Formats: sequence, C-alpha cells, structure tokens
Amino acid sequence: MKRVVRVVLEIGQYSGVVPDLLRFAFAAIKKGTILEQAEIEIEVPPLLLYCLGCENEYLGELDDLCCPVCLKEQFKIIRGREMLVRSVEGEL
Ligand SMILES: [Zn+2]
Repeated sequence: MKRVVRVVLEIGQYSGVVPDLLRFAFAAIKKGTILEQAEIEIEVPPLLLYCLGCENEYLGELDDLCCPVCLKEQFKIIRGREMLVRSVEGEL
C-alpha cells in the first residue's frame, strides 16, 4: 500500500481509551508515514451488559450501569471493551 486514506476503529466505551486522545495521538504520530494523509474515524458501539442478579441483558451508560429491571450494579460486559481496527482504506 502506497498510502492510507482512511482508518476506521471501533472503540468500546469500557475499553479505557478516550477517542479524543486517540485522535490527538494519531495526528501526532502519522507524520512521515503512509498514514500521513489518513483520516481516522472512531465508532463507539453501545455498552451491552449482562446482569448477574436477574440475567437481564441491557444497554448501560458509563454514568448509569444499574440494571433497569432489578436495579443492581453487578454485571458482566458483553460488548464495550473492544478496541478493533474495522477497516483500512488506501491506494496500492
Ligand atoms: Zn438485573
């Protein structure tokens, strides 16, 4: 690949990665590489949780992780920890 024009990432809300900081870091490190003209797109999927109290699956928010059915906050994360490269587009 001669140059990359677009990179799409998927960053879970519970991954510990802050999208704005990642954008800033990407801009800083891409100079002088095949990523120099690449745009970065970050998708943030919904936070899907599994309640260990009542086995309900629900969408959580970082500031409200309680199960809407039993109101407990004991959960397993089904989706929200990922940090994936979804696609890379470029010119050969
Ligand atoms: Zn519950």
